[in-house]
Amino acid sequence: MTILVLFEHNLRLDDNPLLARAAQLGGELLCVSLGDPLGQPGSYGLRRIGHRRQHFLHQSRQELHSALTRLGQQLVLIRQPVIPALSRLIERHDVTHLVRQRPLASNEQALSWYLTRRHPGLSLQHVDGHTLFDLEQLPFDIEDLPPSYSAFRRALQPIKVRAPTPAPHSLPAPPPEVTPWPHISQHRVRPFIGGESQGQRQLAHYLDGPAPGHYKETRNDLEGWQNSAKWSPWLAAGCLSPRRIWQALCHYELTWGANDSTEWLKRELLWREYFQWYAMKWGRRLFQFGGIGQKRPLTSFYPTRFIQWCQGTTPYPLVNACMHELNETGYLSNRGRQLVASALVNELQLDWRCGAAYFEQQLIDYDVSSNWGNWQYIAGVGADPRGGRHFDLDKQSRLHDPKGHYTHKWRGDNPVALAKSPVDWPEDAP
Ligand SMILES: Cc1cc2nc3c(=O)[nH]c(=O)nc-3n(C[C@H](O)[C@H](O)[C@H](O)COP(=O)(O)OP(=O)(O)OC[C@H]3O[C@@H](n4cnc5c(N)ncnc54)[C@H](O)[C@@H]3O)c2cc1C
Repeated sequence: MTILVLFEHNLRLDDNPLLARAAQLGGELLCVSLGDPLGQPGSYGLRRIGHRRQHFLHQSRQELHSALTRLGQQLVLIRQPVIPALSRLIERHDVTHLVRQRPLASNEQALSWYLTRRHPGLSLQHVDGHTLFDLEQLPFDIEDLPPSYSAFRRALQPIKVRAPTPAPHSLPAPPPEVTPWPHISQHRVRPFIGGESQGQRQLAHYLDGPAPGHYKETRNDLEGWQNSAKWSPWLAAGCLSPRRIWQALCHYELTWGANDSTEWLKRELLWREYFQWYAMKWGRRLFQFGGIGQKRPLTSFYPTRFIQWCQGTTPYPLVNACMHELNETGYLSNRGRQLVASALVNELQLDWRCGAAYFEQQLIDYDVSSNWGNWQYIAGVGADPRGGRHFDLDKQSRLHDPKGHYTHKWRGDNPVALAKSPVDWPEDAP
């Protein structure tokens, strides 16, 4: 019996229920990771992945491979296109069971569909590893997912997040003649360095200091390493388990006391959770212009305006500054994301999907559910009971950048001068 465990958004050993499932099944273990969709064109002339996330994911797989090697295992990397490559592996190693993280978004579900059709004898098992709760723990059928985040949070209040499981001390051996992992050296892109150990480090780093005590006050700041937790890249790649984070937060509350800020951090993790199940419920509607209600907005695609938005050369300095930060670091604060998304939809009257696709290319922490779900929310075609968000850019500048430091630092007021400015994350950032 050969068990194939697929490492997608679960690039870790800690609290990895897929490995626990494989251990229960017994047999030889083949650990496989999918290569990135490099060169695969996305929409609007964009790529599906930019070089920063590509580096991050590569580092994460590299570290996972090293950790597996210490347990007598190894990670097999298969390149795109995935389906024929995976099929060849399944046939070559007589794979009987394939264990995969539950695919939530429709584009991820497609792979399971193809595999089942191509390999009718294969036992395909979906395991929840990217969410706080397992599907079976939800107190409703996925079709009855509450229409708003608040109702979702209330419904989940009585349900306990399961305790994370520690990394395994041993693993079954791989089948013979496994193709070795190709070592490709990569430079480390500070401050977000891929891998489970860096993710754990950032978790501890944030919770060890005073920042969680004032998260509620700082979370909407446009910048500052400590203004928010900066867990998203590791969460998106699955280097960090959401349940491990939840447990660490509960531990923090036990030690230092719960407060509005820790409560707020949990709420944000529940937003992430909501969008994961939302993607599962709505399938392809997650990517459709009319969104979940099939209500088509009065926007369109204007190539020149879109290029201005991407490059940060719009008439709006704050938007330009945010886009320059995104382009130069692969990260943007939540408030920055909201502002540029609102400007794209409301000021520039552009189709929200081109903004979402650009974020998909640029973000280090790109997560299909969180990205497209948040974009729908702002565009008014998603889960917002108020029907979309329009941020007043002048008011937002006064509130979040009263002295113009952020706008000046990221050259929002001088968009033509696209000279590189240093990215001054503090030295103690991981
Ligand atoms: C248009 C738009 C697109 C976005 N695209 C993504 C994306 O591709 N990937 C992604 O991880 N987040 C996305 N977000 C959500 C949010 O902006 C980031 O999760 C957050 O800024 C990451 O920084 P942090 O880890 O310091 O967050 P914190 O504020 O410290 O929050 C802690 C964690 O809670 C979760 N979280 C916080 N806010 C949200 C939210 N609004 N929606 C979902 N989860 C949230 C994240 O996992 C985050 O790491 C998007 C938001 C908007 C408005």
